[in-house]
Amino acid sequence: MRALDLIVKTRDKLALTKAEIDFLVSGYAHDEVPDYQMSAWAMAVLLNGMTDQEITDLTLAMANSGEVLDLGEIGELVVDKHSTGGVGDKTTLSVAPMVAACGLPVGKMSGRGLGFSGGTIDKLESIPGFRSNLSTEEFISQIKQIGIVLTGQSADLAPADGKLYALRDVTGTVQSIPLIASSVMSKKIAGGADAIVLDVKVGKGAFMQTLDDARKLANVMVSIGNLSGRRVIAVLSPMDQPLGEAVGNALELREAVELLHGNAPEDYRYHCLHLAAYMLILGKKAASMPEALALAEATISDGSAFAKLVELITAQGGDVSYIRELDRLPKAKIHRTITAEKKGYIKSVDAKEVGESSVILGAGRSKKEDKIDFAVGILVKVKIGELVAENQPLFEVHANDEEKLYQVFEKLRNAVEIVDEPVEPPPYFWDVIGLNE
Ligand code: URA
Repeated sequence: MRALDLIVKTRDKLALTKAEIDFLVSGYAHDEVPDYQMSAWAMAVLLNGMTDQEITDLTLAMANSGEVLDLGEIGELVVDKHSTGGVGDKTTLSVAPMVAACGLPVGKMSGRGLGFSGGTIDKLESIPGFRSNLSTEEFISQIKQIGIVLTGQSADLAPADGKLYALRDVTGTVQSIPLIASSVMSKKIAGGADAIVLDVKVGKGAFMQTLDDARKLANVMVSIGNLSGRRVIAVLSPMDQPLGEAVGNALELREAVELLHGNAPEDYRYHCLHLAAYMLILGKKAASMPEALALAEATISDGSAFAKLVELITAQGGDVSYIRELDRLPKAKIHRTITAEKKGYIKSVDAKEVGESSVILGAGRSKKEDKIDFAVGILVKVKIGELVAENQPLFEVHANDEEKLYQVFEKLRNAVEIVDEPVEPPPYFWDVIGLNE
């Protein structure tokens, strides 16, 4: 078999066999298929799509490119969550400790930033010393000991996805249902969790632009999960405007920790409490949403979620003083405010423009080898539907470079639309798939 022939086949809209997909994925994982051929193939997939059978074969090939954990020895259900990527989506940082504090083990493999969307691992690495490259033995022993683990992609778990994810980030091949579904589900299958909550984002700041596409992606992922014996719920969440206030690594980490102390923007708080509740239901810690929500809320009011986060950071080598004293987190040198040019109702706060601005400031990557600037980012001061006065702050930009600040100023100004007529705020969720209370 030759990679070239498989690229041509996908380019010509012919379905690949399981053996062909296995060849491509394993060849790429073992450096036998080079980046340039894999990018050409990924672009062909993005343009032409894949059959359901191909998506399942690709997912399993990527999951099997490394170890597939069997967490049976833990003796309890283990839950996981995954977002398809959004702007200001720091949900895992708050939700994983909340759920683990309820006694439900959380074992999660997270990603780095992808395109204009942020990644949990980059956010956690704002904490000096934090290790995101745990071995399989460390992953299992940490869940057993403290009931929570958040690691990045390792050479052991779904390494083919690790490579392909980084390649897609810089080759314009992120926005593809087959590639997103297989990327997410290969990690989830390899990570070994019994139950998974998928947060499928839809809107300007998401990879899925329409509710139809998001639903399609959710259904494909739920069915792959069920086929591999996992219990899966998918929520469809709006992502036209950023979630919460903070966009950028250390800024988001701070907001996520603040939620665990009871201080958070309402949309972010609602989102996290509900995702935690869905995980508690899937993990059989609660029988109904009201019960699950009460359990999740209690972990904030009694401090147990914050204590669990401290345990997690400590176990993974991070300096917890940065979590206990949030002012120690990396800070940008320049802070500038962008204000409203007129009075009116906020019609849009374009999450993609905000996400891209954050990448321009240095919070994300344009090339695989780019280094992240943890300190930079944007605080979004308004929400869709809000009435603002002239000169009211819309954004607070945190930058380390005047030139980059200049580049994002106009972009951010254009990201907000203010109109005279009242605007209906978006719902917190569009739908939930697979929930059987
Ligand atoms: N999250 C992933 O893990 N993979 C994608 O492709 C997109 C979001």
